[in-house]
Amino acid sequence: TKWIYSFGAGQSEGNAGMRNLLGGKGANLAEMANIGLPVPPGFTITTEVCTAFYDNGRKYPAELESQLEAAMAQIENVMGLRFGDAEAPLLVSVRSGARVSMPGMMDTVLNLGLNDTTVEGLVRSSGDARFAWDSYRRFIQMYGSVVLGVSHHRFEDLLEQTKRAVSKEDDTDLTADEWKEVVKAYKQIVEKETGSAFPETPKDQLWGAIGAVFGSWMNPRANTYRKLHDIPASWGTAVNVQSMVFGNMGNDCATGVCFTRDPSTGENIFYGEYLINAQGEDVVAGIRTPQPMAECRAAEGQISMEKALPGAYQELLKVRDLLERHYRDMQDIEFTVQANTLYLLQTRSGKRTAAAALRVAIDMAKEGLITQEEAITRVPPASLDQLLHPVLDPKAERVLLTRGLPASPGAATGVIAFSAEDVEDRAAKGEDVILVRIETSPEDVHGMHAARGVLTTRGGMTSHAAVVARGMGRVCVAGAGSIAVNYQAQTMTVDGHTLKAGDWLTLDGGSGAVYKGRVPTIPPTLSGDFATLMGWADDVRRLGVRANAETPEDAETARRFGAEGIGLCRTEHMFFGPDRIGHVRQMIMADNEAARAKAIDALLPFQRGDFSELFRIMAGLPVTIRLLDPPLHEFLPHGEAELQDVAKALGQDVESLRARRSALSEANPMLGHRGCRLGISYPEIYAMQVRAIAEAALDISASAGKAVIPEIMIPLVGTKAELDLVRKSCESVIAAVLSERKATLSYKIGTMIELPRAAITADQIAQSADFFSFGTNDLTQTTLGLSRDDAGSFLPEYVEKGLLPQDPFISIDREGVGALVRMGVEKGRAAKPDLKLGICGEHGGDPLSISFFEEVGLDYVSCSPFRVPVARLAAAQSAL
Ligand code: PEP
Ligand code: MG
Repeated sequence: TKWIYSFGAGQSEGNAGMRNLLGGKGANLAEMANIGLPVPPGFTITTEVCTAFYDNGRKYPAELESQLEAAMAQIENVMGLRFGDAEAPLLVSVRSGARVSMPGMMDTVLNLGLNDTTVEGLVRSSGDARFAWDSYRRFIQMYGSVVLGVSHHRFEDLLEQTKRAVSKEDDTDLTADEWKEVVKAYKQIVEKETGSAFPETPKDQLWGAIGAVFGSWMNPRANTYRKLHDIPASWGTAVNVQSMVFGNMGNDCATGVCFTRDPSTGENIFYGEYLINAQGEDVVAGIRTPQPMAECRAAEGQISMEKALPGAYQELLKVRDLLERHYRDMQDIEFTVQANTLYLLQTRSGKRTAAAALRVAIDMAKEGLITQEEAITRVPPASLDQLLHPVLDPKAERVLLTRGLPASPGAATGVIAFSAEDVEDRAAKGEDVILVRIETSPEDVHGMHAARGVLTTRGGMTSHAAVVARGMGRVCVAGAGSIAVNYQAQTMTVDGHTLKAGDWLTLDGGSGAVYKGRVPTIPPTLSGDFATLMGWADDVRRLGVRANAETPEDAETARRFGAEGIGLCRTEHMFFGPDRIGHVRQMIMADNEAARAKAIDALLPFQRGDFSELFRIMAGLPVTIRLLDPPLHEFLPHGEAELQDVAKALGQDVESLRARRSALSEANPMLGHRGCRLGISYPEIYAMQVRAIAEAALDISASAGKAVIPEIMIPLVGTKAELDLVRKSCESVIAAVLSERKATLSYKIGTMIELPRAAITADQIAQSADFFSFGTNDLTQTTLGLSRDDAGSFLPEYVEKGLLPQDPFISIDREGVGALVRMGVEKGRAAKPDLKLGICGEHGGDPLSISFFEEVGLDYVSCSPFRVPVARLAAAQSAL
């Protein structure tokens, strides 16, 4: 059996396809060498050895030793060095490498092969005694802790003592002789802790390290990790042994990190940093300032690699090309130059900003490196959010106060106001304002609109604040529970800081961070690449994308971002204008038909105007209008003054109104008098809304010369009988309007599926519905029995502890809520094959959920306007 696969010197016995046998790291090293990259030579001991080792009572296969010797000899030949040689010793690294990278396993031993003799050889060959003895002590420290199990604190404590004794601060200040003393002391530690001397023979060191890697496959941490991630123990790990190369052996040596393109802008230029005569960690550690790669990027006083090491630089340029052509993606490369020879230590697909992801994808498709379809898959949909909203200036200083839920993306800074009224007053004076509330209700909507951002201390990702802020494109951090808000004192207190109304505050709605003071933000700029990508996405997606919108402003935004209609217009948001709320309250509080009819008549022109505006903006695209949904108590007059106003307008006494108010308030309004239940007990309200819809549709059809086809949606239906009743009254209102106007109108009447019973009886309900729109917010709330408004206080802990894979209000719970959606789809279509199916819960803008909606075959998703581009891209990706 072949137990070992060599790589390096332009050829390998393995390749990238052999992950199972060679592990991820081994397969990648083999691949790099195969395509002609200068990888330090080495070999991989296969995962089969690991399996055989455990199957045979922890004994290695018989042929392993001879194969290992042959493989070591091959490295020696390529490097022109000998393992254990007193003059020019070969040193190697030993690393683990399973199929998937796995924390808990033994990681790395460097500089293996050093002992009291070979260290002298390294002194001579490097000409640097300090470097050689430092390398030696690093080796003892690493080997001592990871292979021999000595606590690394023992080594660190000794090093600290030594530095104190010689009055030196940094490791780099120690001399060769001082390192020599440290080496001696380290060995004593090993002998004392393990009962035997540190292994001097390089071959013993090598077998020891290999044994430690295989041993670590079964250590408790690795076992736990495997259990949690369903990784079978039978996979085993591979061991990679590779020649060491040094970037710190003189001025013809260097080390660096570079990207094949600029990772922050995506521009097609070679980007990176290097340091002459240094080791990998020096570049990261920031002790010396790294220098630029290309001469054209060198500022005064900087020395580019192009100039300092021209040969290696030219090699690297070739490598850059080779890598991009082979991996067909922007790469992040780690390299070392030893004595003018270039070595590649690692290449992987490079991390990048959202802007760079977009630009690289489009450029590479245009360069012919990847197809358009691949370009679509290269941009994470959620990252588009970053491109559409202002972000915090990355260079700005900041003081983090706390974190809440990242409810609506973007960055906002402004002065604190604790009420919607205060927001409006300050905004009217031209101030930027952040609204801070314990939670918000429909009454706060005007204040949210006037604010730059909204912060709440209670509520989850589908709480009122989150949903409304997302819809308006306002920044929102929700459920920041560690903040205490005191409305009376007009203060918020968190982590020892107390802020007053008028103090500056900054929110990052993308991360949920709340910062003290004013952190500058930078505005978004949309490149032509954005439009290009959206166009490509539209070519391949099957799912339609609509927006949830009710104001003209939101509808305009939605169209600008490419929405193909409105999937949800929440009419309750239209009831709160200062010119309307009075009529709404009178409508609810009236104790007689006549007074109620009067209030409703007053609302009709407002609603007709609202709908006309939406129909006009959407210009013939479908518009789904949902009849009134929230519990009436949300509209009730609060204070005494409001109560007096309503009493006066209605000519009723305050006492009877007070009694009615308490009769209408509910213990659990989310499961109370809301949705179609309202339309059933107050048919006049729905009748008014339907009349307004029909009249507006006729008006706009006539004036625009294009037929408007309104879609009327009934909320919170649980039974077919409910829908039948409401549908019948809607139809009779429309019939009345049409006969008054002597006109015709095409329209649809459908329902939301947002209660489990509706999904389970979808076949019956479909008989009375022209379309379904899944209300996954309420469906999640009712299926999991989790309050949308209260779950924020404990749900994050559920996710942290792995009890739920993610917040089910953000990303759909496929197994539970998803199963109900699937059932609703199947039963609905079985009863009515041409039933139109959409989703308008917040999940409609979540990429993971969108791939589920594609899978179950919905016709469209509907989401807040700013997420429309995200949804278009996610829909395209899930169609591919
Ligand atoms: C839903 O429940 O998913 C929905 C879209 O309606 P709302 O969020 O207004 O309850
Ligand atoms: Mg709902």
